[in-house]
Amino acid sequence: MFSNSRNRAPRPRRSPTPSGGTAPRNTTSQPPSRSPSPSSPAGGKPLYLCTPFADAALVKGNFKTIVMLPKYTDIMEWVAVNIFDFYTNLNEFYGVIAETCTQHSCPTMSGGPTLNYVWTHQGGKQAMLPAPTYIDYVMTSIQNLIDDENVFPTKSSASTHQSFHPSFPATVRTVYRQLLRVFAHIYHAHYPQILHLRSEPHFNSLFAHFLAFGREYELLEVRDIKGEPNAPVGVGLLWERWKEKGILES
Ligand SMILES: [Zn+2]
Repeated sequence: MFSNSRNRAPRPRRSPTPSGGTAPRNTTSQPPSRSPSPSSPAGGKPLYLCTPFADAALVKGNFKTIVMLPKYTDIMEWVAVNIFDFYTNLNEFYGVIAETCTQHSCPTMSGGPTLNYVWTHQGGKQAMLPAPTYIDYVMTSIQNLIDDENVFPTKSSASTHQSFHPSFPATVRTVYRQLLRVFAHIYHAHYPQILHLRSEPHFNSLFAHFLAFGREYELLEVRDIKGEPNAPVGVGLLWERWKEKGILES
């Protein structure tokens, strides 16, 4: 039954929202400018950590119940369906704010005041990319994986572990880590736009669900959520706060 939601119906390739992320965003290549100071007025706490924005949510209470494996559901299938949903929802959010995420505004893939994620090309070569390029690479690579029947099989709804490749857990951990980085960038650099759209309850709920699911199924390591001491992930503090409030499990 769960496979229905990601059956082969034609899916929007990229952000289906009217503001459109489908047009190539990298047509003009401008030299990187100084990094703008994001969502942190006067060097204070970022807005996403401020009351009431930090705790605004559509889902009240603890997220444990909605991440639990439903009866008679294969765990691989459950993980696949949820990853598809996280990807789709996050892609829509990014599509809405994409016009404010440009090479000029976001010359690096920032995820905290001193944190810039580095893209690793296949083959291991590393590159500092502007955030819109980085995110485009992430979303395109995940879409390709989802479309690949060998990675995300959709046949046989009574799926068994055999239908998933043994490398599936490793693949989805990589996908999860990249999705986390997109969340981290949006919170760090674009939270004012989320507030402007009054989408913070929605976005917080999506992220809390994502974190709860990732921890429950060991798709996310604490190190990825919190970052390094000299380069912390901004949303690491949000995660701590939600644990203190009982929204997430400690
Ligand atoms: Zn950006």
